[in-house]
Amino acid sequence: KSVQEDAAIQYLQAQYDKIVPVEIKSFKDLPLSQKTLKGLKENNFFTPTDIQKLAIGYALQGKDILGAAKTGSGKTLAFLVPILEILFCKKWTRMDGVGALVISPTRELAYQIYETLRKVGHLHDFSAGLIIGGQNLKFERKRMDQVNILICTPGRLLQHMDENPLFDCSQLQILVLDEADRCLDLGFEATMNAIIENLPPKRQTLLFSATQTKSVKDLARLSLSFPTYVAPHEQAA
Ligand code: ADP
Ligand code: MG
Repeated sequence: KSVQEDAAIQYLQAQYDKIVPVEIKSFKDLPLSQKTLKGLKENNFFTPTDIQKLAIGYALQGKDILGAAKTGSGKTLAFLVPILEILFCKKWTRMDGVGALVISPTRELAYQIYETLRKVGHLHDFSAGLIIGGQNLKFERKRMDQVNILICTPGRLLQHMDENPLFDCSQLQILVLDEADRCLDLGFEATMNAIIENLPPKRQTLLFSATQTKSVKDLARLSLSFPTYVAPHEQAA
């Protein structure tokens, strides 16, 4: 690429930075598939929140993201929409294995993410699975080989990586670390590090955290490459 081209890209990027928060009024203003737009509409999601506008925009450009936004700001769709769109764009099929992995600190949060994914993503052909324990391991194992989007808690995921011969994340495209600060607070630092080391390095990673502590930054350094920092200010309605 010529220097001139690089400058042009930087210029476009700067323009994009300026227009994203103000110009996007509806999910329809983002370049999303009809399947995703319909799934959002059916569930009464019309206007993206600030973190959604920014994170979806950058994620669809293929960037790693370090996202900071408080509880209730809509982080779930900020990563589920990119997952659906990126797998859709890559023409991912059920046979292609685990394309996206979401790590969530607790069973309850993982289940909520799974439910939102089922509701908003049901028009896509991908299959989704929960790896949160509470069922016997054999049951999770049986269902493992045809899952495209996996929602997991850290301990249970590492257990599958270590013990389940059917577990395969070698085709992983997108990794999401949700509520990273809470995962670390719950004592999952070593588990998260081990998980990340087991995953293919050629992937896109989105890390969300309400706070930016030193341990979150350490995790970001380990898991992200050249991340875009996304931290929308709360705007008055
Ligand atoms: P966070 O993970 O940042 O705490 P959630 O993703 O759980 O936030 O979303 C918080 C609430 O806001 C949920 O009830 C969700 O359904 C709702 N919500 C998220 N995005 C939108 C949106 N674009 N429009 C309306 N409601 C939304
Ligand atoms: Mg959340």
